[in-house]
Amino acid sequence: MAQLWRQVKNEDAKRVWEPLSLDQVMAGLIEMDDGAVALRPIEEADALQGATTLMPCDQDGEGHWAILTGDPAVRVNGEAIRLGIHLLADRDEIRLPGGVRAFFSTERLSQSEVMPDLGRQVTCPCCLLELLPGQQVRRCSRCGAWYHDMPDDPDRPLPCYTIAPTCKSCRQPLPALDGTFVWTPEELYRHV
Ligand SMILES: [Zn+2]
Ligand SMILES: [Zn+2]
Repeated sequence: MAQLWRQVKNEDAKRVWEPLSLDQVMAGLIEMDDGAVALRPIEEADALQGATTLMPCDQDGEGHWAILTGDPAVRVNGEAIRLGIHLLADRDEIRLPGGVRAFFSTERLSQSEVMPDLGRQVTCPCCLLELLPGQQVRRCSRCGAWYHDMPDDPDRPLPCYTIAPTCKSCRQPLPALDGTFVWTPEELYRHV
């Protein structure tokens, strides 16, 4: 559940931001491909000295990634990468040699899920009732808080996710139900 946002040219040759999903990606070399940032699987013959790579560094799939580089020109949020490794955080800006930028994001897309049995009691931040294993739920993309997503339940409708405009746990906007990202790098340029 992580993306690398990169700028690509659309049909009108206008530059637009596009998310490159990092799900199911093992590790990759960050390269330029036709003017856009691309990620290429590492091959045995690759000389990694001076290269910049993106590497997942967890087993739980929670979206922890590190950037490794031997290139002193690569920056994260304007800072050189000391020791050649940097653990990426949500919305980190990666600047490659030549000034090309990409952004790392850990936002989850909104999707209806079945509440798993976590072996502990979890309450919905909206209605404050317990979330029972097997119930339909949705999660906040930022903090992972669980919400009921049962607007049409015949016994007791719980439209908790849809009625909460912002997450009651982290106060960030909840992702739209249509599966689009709340945050894109576009907003950084809106006021420029
Ligand atoms: Zn609820
Ligand atoms: Zn939240």
